[in-house]
Amino acid sequence: MSKTDTPDPKQERDQRTTWPLELGSDDLRRMVDAAMERVVAHLESLPQQPLSYTTGGEELARSLREDKLPEEATPFTDLLATVFDQGLQKTYNTPSPGYLAYIPGGGLLHAAVADLIANAINRYVGVWVAAPGLVELEANVIRWFCQMVGYPESSLGVLTSGGSLANFTAIVTARRNRLGDDFLRGTLYCSDQVHHSITKAAMLAGFPENNIRQVPSDRLQRIQIEALKTQIDGDRQAGMEPFLVVGSAGTVNTGAVDDFEALADVAREQRLWLHTDGAYGGFFALTDRGRETMLGLEMADSITLDPHKGLFLPYGTGCLLVRDKVALQKAHHLEADYMPEMQQVPDLVDFCELSPELSRDFRGLRVWLPLKMHGISVFREALDEKLDLAAWACEELRAIEHMEIVAEPQLSILAFRLEPPGLDDGAIDELNRELLRRINDRQRVFLTATTLEGRFVIRICVLSFRTHLDRMRQALEDIREAVREVLAA
Ligand SMILES: *Cc1c(COP(=O)(O)O)cnc(C)c1O
Repeated sequence: MSKTDTPDPKQERDQRTTWPLELGSDDLRRMVDAAMERVVAHLESLPQQPLSYTTGGEELARSLREDKLPEEATPFTDLLATVFDQGLQKTYNTPSPGYLAYIPGGGLLHAAVADLIANAINRYVGVWVAAPGLVELEANVIRWFCQMVGYPESSLGVLTSGGSLANFTAIVTARRNRLGDDFLRGTLYCSDQVHHSITKAAMLAGFPENNIRQVPSDRLQRIQIEALKTQIDGDRQAGMEPFLVVGSAGTVNTGAVDDFEALADVAREQRLWLHTDGAYGGFFALTDRGRETMLGLEMADSITLDPHKGLFLPYGTGCLLVRDKVALQKAHHLEADYMPEMQQVPDLVDFCELSPELSRDFRGLRVWLPLKMHGISVFREALDEKLDLAAWACEELRAIEHMEIVAEPQLSILAFRLEPPGLDDGAIDELNRELLRRINDRQRVFLTATTLEGRFVIRICVLSFRTHLDRMRQALEDIREAVREVLAA
């Protein structure tokens, strides 16, 4: 074979006019249409889909394992089938209106459209100079949240991927501002009800687990202020450096809200950074009742919010607010030769100077779009509805014989258990385990349990924009029937 007969792949490539990675307009439209068809069909059947159908999950996972990088192309519709017909099986149905478990999944669809736009335009939003207009849209969101919690002009914050990263950023910020480089004697304080992401964040921030002090909580699952003070004093006497106290604006267990005014007093007297974890409950500050329950929220030095909980957005949207933006900057500012010089225009924002992230998605759009489209009153009303539904469920449960309300709703979480006479604690726990199983077996709602003071309790968390009175009525029907069954058994 002569040399000229051999096709030269490089030459062939250089003569090409179409490139597979560059979708044409028609290809893009076809892809979006095909995807949308599956999405719409899925969402239309969502309210009827079972709540948890996880049997066979292990086998499913293994059946989808692919050990080799794909060499061959696969048609898009086949891939959609993989995602929708296989991947979407055996899941907890977190976006269902009946999902009343740990924290419901929500997922406003506006955010999906916003993400499509954000990813299609794919601008860099780490420094304002790279996309001044888009960065400002995201900065608006942060400033609205600051306003919502009652923060002053000096405040700012960042959108994170979730509450855990927000809590982590808060603890690093407190550490950098309150302790020196040699910080291993620094101690942190939280209640025994605090979310475990705080402990994890403290460990990631370099603190030994022993430096995290879990202070007992009271009858309403709020941190005990006197016990907190005693612990701090004791630690100081032992040569430790108390620097941070964490309050909860709605614990994950029972939605308990700490006494922020008392916490702020302690923080001031003891010169501690006060961080408030409002990942579950923070957005109830939009409602009158929530505001009243969370009196003094604005006294915290930093506050975690989770738009993917209280604003009903899809997973991947958290937020940290800091009362003094200089503190946030002090913890994250660095310079590098290859970075554009930070512009230091006081009213514009370089997000990479305020967060551990440099390159990231334009997540602000997914919050900005629904807030602008509807206005905040629609969200306020939806959150008010959740407070009403939790209160309604509490009264309905109270009317069931032998039902004990273990935690009344402070926000939209409540906890209860059945306590028929003549059974010891162990038997009651077992009875309630069975009760929970029977409620969930009906597949119309999904509830989870927790342990409070050593007792197994069932909890309800109402926080989906899709959950309304009709589903709550079903929940109560299923609970009442399951109660009849376990008492008869
Ligand atoms: C959900 C939650 C977290 C963790 O947030 P993620 O978004 O899941 O990382 C932290 N604290 C509280 C109170 C929560 O409810």
